[in-house]
Amino acid sequence: MTVNELYRQGAEMLDYAFVENAFFDARWLIEKAVGIDANQFALKKDKKVSSKQEVEFLSLIRRRIAGEPLQYILGEWEFMGYPFCVGEGVLIPRPETELLVDFAKERLNGKTSPVIFDLCSGSGCIAISIAKLFPKAKVYAVEKSHEACVYLKKNIKLNKVKNVELIQGDIASSLILKGVTPDLILSNPPYVETDEIPRLQKEVQHEPVMALDGGKDGLDFYKILATEWIAKMPAGTVMAVECGESQAEDISQMFFLSKCDVDTINDLSGIPRVVTAIKR
Ligand code: GLN
Repeated sequence: MTVNELYRQGAEMLDYAFVENAFFDARWLIEKAVGIDANQFALKKDKKVSSKQEVEFLSLIRRRIAGEPLQYILGEWEFMGYPFCVGEGVLIPRPETELLVDFAKERLNGKTSPVIFDLCSGSGCIAISIAKLFPKAKVYAVEKSHEACVYLKKNIKLNKVKNVELIQGDIASSLILKGVTPDLILSNPPYVETDEIPRLQKEVQHEPVMALDGGKDGLDFYKILATEWIAKMPAGTVMAVECGESQAEDISQMFFLSKCDVDTINDLSGIPRVVTAIKR
């Protein structure tokens, strides 16, 4: 059997099992099983696969059919063009979160050595992308989960950044930063309503509840950000957070009441996804 034939067989298996984007996923999985990258597929597609590669590929396909996220099976996923190790215990970087980094890029442009905090850092995708884009910046990545910190450390190494400091701790207390003053605070906190979690698609069920569960109304972490962080920020400090659909208004209101000028940024579907706040 050729690479292309095996790929098509896998894609059909996924499609038959109602996996969305069956051909897209099968393409990634065949490349992993055969050990080629996307550019080599066209060159190698008529080559014969070994029986070992076939067994390996079919086992990846079976994991995908069982609901394991594609990104966990691959073990690595891209964010802002940089690679990030992912797996059980850490949230998969999502494209909408790049909006937050784009906003930060604009704000930090021209600043000499800014101090940035990334709260609930997870895989470190936000903190590490900012550190890559601004080598003179100092970035503090705060993460509570031990499992996520393991990935965060791996990702700091993988991306060879020297300007990210990992702080394992709970954002419920801004004291963990021992008096460091930020120019910019970024966060993609857990924001899913507790009752919604069992209803999320089965791939998301594989992701850590701790990275998803935002409490009864999904807003627990924004309340902490408002009381523990914004309230203690000097005038002019900027905060930007990602939020869930239909949460932007409540969060804007909360941050406004914490003495900030607020604004929102829409995602590609026109949903306000990021709330920005500048302390007055
Ligand atoms: N975007 C994720 C989801 O809805 C949630 C991430 C988060 O809670 N920060 O699947």
